[in-house]
Amino acid sequence: MINSHAHLDFDNLNTIAENAVALVPSIGKQNWIDVQMYPYFAFGIHPWMVDAHTQQDLDYLEYLIKCNNPVAIGECGLDYLKDIDKQTQLHFFSAQLIMAEKYNLPVIIHAVKATEDVIFLLKKHPKLTGEIHGFSGSEFQAKQLTNMGFYLGFGMQILNQQSTKIRQIVKNCPLEFILIETDDHINPNDLSLVAQEIANLKQIPVDEVVQQCDNNAVNLFNLK
Ligand SMILES: [Zn+2]
Repeated sequence: MINSHAHLDFDNLNTIAENAVALVPSIGKQNWIDVQMYPYFAFGIHPWMVDAHTQQDLDYLEYLIKCNNPVAIGECGLDYLKDIDKQTQLHFFSAQLIMAEKYNLPVIIHAVKATEDVIFLLKKHPKLTGEIHGFSGSEFQAKQLTNMGFYLGFGMQILNQQSTKIRQIVKNCPLEFILIETDDHINPNDLSLVAQEIANLKQIPVDEVVQQCDNNAVNLFNLK
């Protein structure tokens, strides 16, 4: 079972790092070295970290991408819930979308209260593919993104019975566009719980969910 988004290099996640097949995104220059310990990693600058980065860091990011074969760029994106200057966020996100296009890599996107702007920017790069991880947009936006060939990542939030909107989206979204993830959760069983919940919502066998989500991750990130 492939975990499409797990921060295995974070100190408290050591326990799940052992036997997980996971895609490990980075959040900024502080862990561009650490994530390379894992077979599948991505380089990027998280929207929460943009204030700590400069143009020089973006140049270095591009150098790393050229030299170290990441499977994706990310995580990057926009978070309008955080009190971080929008223009700065947009600058770093756009720069990373341009790099993804240039090096023909998928993008791992963090979008919180900003899915509309993310879609607007992605439309400027029609050749791009990627994942909106921890999807929290609307049903309409889910359709727009999957029509654009983007995958939607879901994690433990779908187990919350109160998350009726997101559970409805999981139910209706074609399995061909779904990825499963644990993000920064520390429990190794969480990934199975997410897969099981998708199976429950869609009323299909969990094996089918796992197999298709694994295929999706292999195809999107070109995993070997
Ligand atoms: Zn993350």
